[in-house]
Amino acid sequence: MRPHSARPSFFALHIILGMAVCFLIGFIASVAWASGTDAGATPALRSSLFDYFPARPSLRSDTGSGIAPRGPAIAIVIDDLGSSEARTRRAMALPSAVTLSFLPYPAATPALAAEAARDGHEILVHVPMQPLSARHNPGPMALKVGQSPEEITRRLLWALSRVPDHTGVNNHEGSRFTLDRAALEPVMQTLAEKNLFFLDSRTIGHSKASLVARAYDVPTAGRDVFLDDTISASAVARELGNLERQARKHGIAIAIGHPHDVTMAALERWTAAVAEKGFTLVPVSTAIRMEEARPTASAALLPSGS
Ligand SMILES: [Zn+2]
Repeated sequence: MRPHSARPSFFALHIILGMAVCFLIGFIASVAWASGTDAGATPALRSSLFDYFPARPSLRSDTGSGIAPRGPAIAIVIDDLGSSEARTRRAMALPSAVTLSFLPYPAATPALAAEAARDGHEILVHVPMQPLSARHNPGPMALKVGQSPEEITRRLLWALSRVPDHTGVNNHEGSRFTLDRAALEPVMQTLAEKNLFFLDSRTIGHSKASLVARAYDVPTAGRDVFLDDTISASAVARELGNLERQARKHGIAIAIGHPHDVTMAALERWTAAVAEKGFTLVPVSTAIRMEEARPTASAALLPSGS
């Protein structure tokens, strides 16, 4: 009987040893992952970033998303793209972490947006919306206050159909439209159904877009800085400085620029030096994810009982 009873215990020892080795390898790997990817972020912030968006298809999970960026994060969106192929191609030549927003109506938009997506850029639909001033023309198929919800939805779906590979939307003009809750409701309902996010270009101070987006559970954030409201090299340089200050202060900042020569020249230099300055350039979906996670993250970091 003895040899028989000794044999199983010999195997049992092997199994226990094997499990111990597996556990040790797993432990070492997880420590290496945590220290390699997440220097500077507290475990509380990291877990809340992961937990907040478990699986939103519209928020890309590559390009560093899902992992807290090193240093303050900056998202740059270039919009008004598609009308001029030369200007659009200059924006497409910027690093792929720069997000590109295409107007729906230019004939070249579908092909250029698909090419930009293949190059790794995040793509937005730059949806024309009614401005306050009649002197500003938002372009064909603009969303306007007073249109029926069905008409607003029809125009939005048309705009979405023109820009392939989009993950979200930002408004072109819209200083009138984004003041109107009722007009925004069919927009946010459609974006919610399609798992798309809304970047508020904030063409007017008291825009209701973020408010209505949240009511429909559409991920949203507002633009912090316009790089080229004044189209001059000195103004763009000043706004890039402003963007860096805001990113340092809040951990994340979002800028919108346009494919003007001065903006492109400034961004070609600035993006080449951005990592050296300690910032991480992120697609705008990552910035929105971080901004939406922030209240949860700061609550998680508060001492218990406060
Ligand atoms: Zn625009």
